Amino acid sequence: MASSVGKKKRVVIVGGGIAGSVLAFNLQHHADVYLIDPKEYFEIAWASLRCMVEPSFAEKSLINHREYVRNATIITAYAVNVTLNEVRTSQGRVVPYDYLVIATGHEDRITVTKMEKISLYRMEHERIRSANSILIVGGGPVGVELAGEISVDFPEKKITLVHRGGRLLEFVGDSVTNLNLSTNGVYKTSGGKTIRADCHFLCIGKPLASSWLKESMLRDRLDPIGRLMVDANLRVKGCSNIFAIGDITDIPEMKQGYLAQIHARVVEKTIKYMINGKEKLDTYKSGSQMAIVSLGRSEAVAQIKGATMIGRIPGKMKSGDLYVNKTKKTLGLSY
Ligand SMILES: Cc1cc2nc3c(=O)[nH]c(=O)nc-3n(C[C@H](O)[C@H](O)[C@H](O)COP(=O)(O)OP(=O)(O)OC[C@H]3O[C@@H](n4cnc5c(N)ncnc54)[C@H](O)[C@@H]3O)c2cc1C
Repeated sequence: MASSVGKKKRVVIVGGGIAGSVLAFNLQHHADVYLIDPKEYFEIAWASLRCMVEPSFAEKSLINHREYVRNATIITAYAVNVTLNEVRTSQGRVVPYDYLVIATGHEDRITVTKMEKISLYRMEHERIRSANSILIVGGGPVGVELAGEISVDFPEKKITLVHRGGRLLEFVGDSVTNLNLSTNGVYKTSGGKTIRADCHFLCIGKPLASSWLKESMLRDRLDPIGRLMVDANLRVKGCSNIFAIGDITDIPEMKQGYLAQIHARVVEKTIKYMINGKEKLDTYKSGSQMAIVSLGRSEAVAQIKGATMIGRIPGKMKSGDLYVNKTKKTLGLSY
């Protein structure tokens, strides 16, 4: 278990995605850090689809929290409520804080251990391997990346991608109506088409992981879609010692992991100022935005500063190792 050293200020970080993990790593020697996450590990989210076609990739992209935060307390549980000075967990533990940082991002299928998650990827890999035809629902970045991963590694599979928009990567637009019914491999779209497939993957947006705040004192700090409203210093509106970072915030920008890391840096600086008694706050400025969607192992489509590029050049930026080594370095890991 980690240190709880004398007079150090206590920073409680809720959520061990990229935002919370980077912050915990960078603050662990400056404060008494508590990281609350229902998983024992951090997952490099943008590598998750490669793990479905190559389950051994998950050995590299799932990292136990204990490997990079050795000087903090890790609590494997959900946060279920928050008060002015405490967080309550799903195991009934009450964790007091001086500074609280909420980084719960989006909801996901949770497995507690890294081994359980690797088993899940092996099962998904087997579903893909044993199917002749695969239906992917959703034409956003996740649906397109999954179609790319499967078509490169399993070129003989018939892949059908169903989406609402006029074109892919539009985030809106034909949906499948009966996925929850027993379909016997027959799916009907809202446009009346029938699709036959041996298996399907649902790649539509995940809900925000903020339902735990809906009965808390922060309920009126959630916007209508459940994002936490923050000020320019990434403090939850009206709170002096509660911050929010990553996908959970209402910052009007694309929800991206590289931006979540910048949020974490801003809050790290501010908390260090506060701990050192400085009356100073760091400010977040939403910068130029880019998105790269990989299309298998060597190609990608990128939108950078309004220009769109497709092929091997953007592929070189992302598709080889999907930033796994770079992300590990950010967490002080070099293997
Ligand atoms: C396929 C794919 C490809 C992507 N590609 C890119 C890319 O190329 N570049 C890029 O910058 N971004 C990319 N993204 C986006 C990026 O993954 C997200 O923006 C980023 O993961 C957000 O990080 P986060 O820490 O805010 O939230 P999340 O990653 O959603 O993490 C939230 C954490 O909070 C925990 N949590 C949830 N509820 C609770 C609770 N009640 N109590 C405690 N803990 C809780 C979860 O267990 C999780 O650990 C991609 C995403 C996907 C899915």
